[in-house]
This record gives sequence, structure tokens and C-alpha cells, in this order.
Amino acid sequence: MCSSPMFSVLKKYTVGFPIPVLILIVAAVAAGQDAELPPLGKAMLPFFPWLAAAVGGVMGWRFNRSRITFSLVVIATVHGVMIAFFQAPPGKDVLGQVVYAAAAVLLPLNIAVMAFLEERGVLTLHGMIRAGVLVAQGVAVYLIAHSGIAVAAGQMLHVRLLPPEFDQWTYLPQPAMFAFILAFSILIARWVLNKSGLEGASVTALLASAIAMHAVARGLTPDIFFIGATLILTVAVVQDAYRMAFHDELTGLPGRRALTDGMKKLPGRYAIAMLDVDHFKKFNDTYGHDAGDQVLQMMAYRLGEIGGGGRAYRYGGEEFTILYPGKDLEDAWDYLQELCDTISGTEFALRAKDRPKKKPKKLKRGPKPKVVKVTISIGVADFEDADTPEEVLREADKALYRAKKAGRNQVSD
Ligand code: GH3
Ligand code: MG
Ligand code: MG
Repeated sequence: MCSSPMFSVLKKYTVGFPIPVLILIVAAVAAGQDAELPPLGKAMLPFFPWLAAAVGGVMGWRFNRSRITFSLVVIATVHGVMIAFFQAPPGKDVLGQVVYAAAAVLLPLNIAVMAFLEERGVLTLHGMIRAGVLVAQGVAVYLIAHSGIAVAAGQMLHVRLLPPEFDQWTYLPQPAMFAFILAFSILIARWVLNKSGLEGASVTALLASAIAMHAVARGLTPDIFFIGATLILTVAVVQDAYRMAFHDELTGLPGRRALTDGMKKLPGRYAIAMLDVDHFKKFNDTYGHDAGDQVLQMMAYRLGEIGGGGRAYRYGGEEFTILYPGKDLEDAWDYLQELCDTISGTEFALRAKDRPKKKPKKLKRGPKPKVVKVTISIGVADFEDADTPEEVLREADKALYRAKKAGRNQVSD
């Protein structure tokens, strides 16, 4: 387990990207090897994006991530359309021109719009409406491409707003480039705000799709990059489901199940700390349960930053556990004392429950936000105190009890 501060900083600022980027790199390398594939492999290649999209689409539906399901539907459909037109590369006829350019505009726009939609399921009324909107786009493109305005539509979709130098390096029409740039900006902004795995995967899948569309225009097969795009989203659903199963929803910290796994992986030398918020029942009674939840979120934030290679878990309720692999009680002590002091010295403002959703036109001077403080007690034990991690954890719990008895807001062994 790597737990250096540099690694955790790197991890924090690349959330959601490592695996998608790895898939994209593999796709890029594989695209270069395309010619060396045996005939059967080559013949099967176009089916893989659909396979990945089917697997990821079903999982997105089951795990309530319809955004991924619909993004996969869009990418798999565009892939299918591109295969159909691959024999007649775009630019050769009006139909190809319209369909290709429309797909290159609609793909990024749809993926960007989906990032804003609330989770409302797939096989629900909302899901059906969204599916209907997607189908309507396909029908509209088909009808326009076969109508009298096809030529005009084709010209519009290839219009050059900026000088040709801007798009010389690609055959993507400028409207499609703008659509991709807009979608990238939106998704990257969402990643910066949320730092979630799904956001990172969406950005990378969009990039893979952009490369695939660029490849089509150059007369190359887009299969590998569409495989990359669909695989990235599929793996992201799996990772997201894993995170949901092992992480606590309120605090985002790994939960009890992850703790059990973490304890199994401890080396021979380790320390375990148990933390408990002091007088939390009274806090809830005084400020309300929502305020209590905010305290737990603040705690989780602090615990996420704990030094000394400690890994924090939510044990349950207002209790947290920290595992220190490779450390003994003395090694962990200073970090725990520092945590105790930081928490007791932190004033934090409670978010008002009835804060208006819209900003009022006139700023009323409301009551000042309530500033509160909490303290925690910590018990710690290490591998020398008992034989198994479970027993050491129980020893840490006993130490916690001693810290409470001795007056709270302190560390005890
Ligand atoms: P002590 O200092 O001895 O630990 O006192 P305490 O009041 O913190 O101890 P106790 O275990 O009696 O109370 C724990 C309280 O934590 C009870 C429950 O209301 C609150 N609590 C547990 N989980 C949550 C949660 O998820 N959110 C909120 N707001 N409160 C919680
Ligand atoms: Mg308790
Ligand atoms: Mg408590």
C-alpha cells in the first residue's frame, strides 16, 4: 500500500482518470497495430463497442447510473452509424456528409447534457422520455438527410466560422469541433467541482469518441477508439458500484466492510485507533440532526488528511477507526494528538437549513451563522497489545473508554 503524502496528493488531483487514461493509451497503441490483427479478430472488432456498451448499459441501469447507460447508447449508436457509412467515407455524398457531421455534433452535446440530468432511472417515465429524445434525434437526422434540405443542412453542418487553419489538422467539421470543445469544457468543469470517478471517465470517453470521429473522417476505422470509449464508461460503472458498496454515503469515507478488508491486509506491525465524537447526542439535541451530519462530514474531511499513513474508516454512527499499517502506538500518537487538537480548535459555521435556493434580490441581513465546536476522544492500541487485529481494535475501544472517563478531548492508550 502506498501512503506517502505525495501519492495521496496525486491521487486527489487525478480522481477518476488513471484507469480511463490507461484504457485510452492501450486503445491508441492497439490502433497502431490494427493491420496485424488476424482476419477473424478484425471481423469481430466492430462488435466489441456494442458488447462493452451492452454490459455497461445494463450495469448503469441496475446500479441507477442512467447517465452512463444513455451515454453508452449514444456512443454505440454513433459507432453503428459510422460502420454503415464507413464504406462510403463522409464527403463522398450528401447523405454521408449530413449523417456524419450531425453525429459528430450530437454525440458530444448529448454526453454533455446528460451530465446535468438528475438520476431518474432507465425503465421509468423519465428514462423513457430521455430515450425518446435520443430516438427523435436519430429520426430527425434520417429525415433531413433524405429530404430536399439535405444539401443545405450538409453545408450548415460543415460551415467554417473560423479560418481553415483552425481545422487543418483534422477533418472534423468546425461545428463538430465547437460541440466537442463545449462538451469538454462542461465535463472538465464538472470534474473540477465533483472530482468523481464518473466525471473523469466521461471526460476521457469523450476524448476517445472525438478521436474515433476524427479517424472516420480520415477514412480510418473508428472501432478501437469506440471500444475504448465504451470500455471506459463500463469500467467506471463497476468502480462506482464498488465505491458505493465500500464507502459510507454521508462522509464518503470507506465503511465497515472496507475496514474488515483493510484489517486483513495489515502487516505484522500496525496500530489501530478508535475515535468517538464527544457528547454527540447532546449536540444533536441542541442543534439538530442535520447539524450533526455536518459535523460528521467535517470530521471525515479532517480524517482524510490525517498524517502518518493512517487510513480512516467510518466504523458506524459517530465512531471512526484509523489503521496505521507499519506503525506502532508511539509512531501514531503524535498524529492522533494533533488531530484531537485540530478538531477541538476548529470553529465551524453551521449551514442554515432554510437557506433559500434562489439568491434573494435584496440581501437581507439574516442572523449570523452559528459557530460551533466539537471535541473527540481517541483510544489507540498496537500489535503488541493483542494477537489479532480484531482484538487490537477491541483494545483500542477500551482505551477510548478510558479517554472518555478521563474527561474526553484526549488520546489514551
Ligand atoms: P460520549 O461523549 O460518551 O461519546 O457521548 P455521546 O452522546 O456522543 O454518546 P452516545 O453513543 O450516547 O451518542 C451517540 C449519538 O450519535 C447518538 C446519535 O444520535 C448520534 N449519531 C449516530 N450516528 C449519527 C449520524 O449519522 N448523524 C447524526 N447527526 N447523529 C448520529
Ligand atoms: Mg459513540
Ligand atoms: Mg460519542
